[in-house]
Amino acid sequence: MHIFAIANQKGGVGKTTTTVNLAAALAASGQRTLLVDLDPQGNATMGSGVDKRGLEKSVYQVLLGLASLVEARTTSPTGKFDLLPANRDLAGAEVEMVELERREMRLKEALAPHDADYDFVLIDCPPSLSLLTLNGLCAAHGVVIPMQCEYYALEGLSDLVNTIKKVHANLNRDLKIIGLLRVMFDTRATLGHQVSAELEQHFGDKVFKTIVPRNIRLAEAPSYGIPGVLFDKMAKGAQAYQAFASEMIERVKTI
Ligand code: ADP
Ligand code: MG
Repeated sequence: MHIFAIANQKGGVGKTTTTVNLAAALAASGQRTLLVDLDPQGNATMGSGVDKRGLEKSVYQVLLGLASLVEARTTSPTGKFDLLPANRDLAGAEVEMVELERREMRLKEALAPHDADYDFVLIDCPPSLSLLTLNGLCAAHGVVIPMQCEYYALEGLSDLVNTIKKVHANLNRDLKIIGLLRVMFDTRATLGHQVSAELEQHFGDKVFKTIVPRNIRLAEAPSYGIPGVLFDKMAKGAQAYQAFASEMIERVKTI
């Protein structure tokens, strides 16, 4: 079981889109996949075709030890992967968990009994370096960082890289950066190509070969509760995420 956190403390950079589409593409390739929604906004839950308002149990109960993974998980009816869903309840978990022992290890411990059940576990982190994200980073073997190739992209990256280093040093020796994924790429913008080249120079083969273009079909898919890779398989964005799934399957063989 390979556990990856999809993280970037900035909002709107493509974390959820990446998590949902990677999960669906991996599942379509026959990989047993679990998506963990760790964002109280529940966007990955909705985008997977599960109504966050109707949940009996969610990741919230699992983190607080009130339910097991088996009791709280469901299946994405459209994406064919398992889903540990989230909704607004999760916003309270942050405060309630402060009282608990080993509060940053709650997700790791919930996943531990399922080592043989999944090939991939993908954790959609919230846009912060909070206790929720820390649970994601402590549970994971690696971090996938989606980013837009904008002027300030590299600046924001250093906070995340430092957090990952600290978690690696103090809490989770397994943790490493698996790679940086360039998303919402505008092929016509010169700046994008410049930042992209800078990324490759700085991070070398930590930069995934796949580049996900800006593609309207990927943005439309969540309102139908269908992962973009299945919503319009031939769209450029869908094809990019399919290619990214293949790249991930290859990449884990070297881990
Ligand atoms: P995050 O989870 O980091 O906040 P999202 O995945 O929710 O980011 O993406 C933010 C917005 O950008 C969403 O409306 C999403 O549909 C849109 N989006 C994400 N990736 C793409 C893309 N490659 N092309 C077009 N729109 C995208
Ligand atoms: Mg999100």
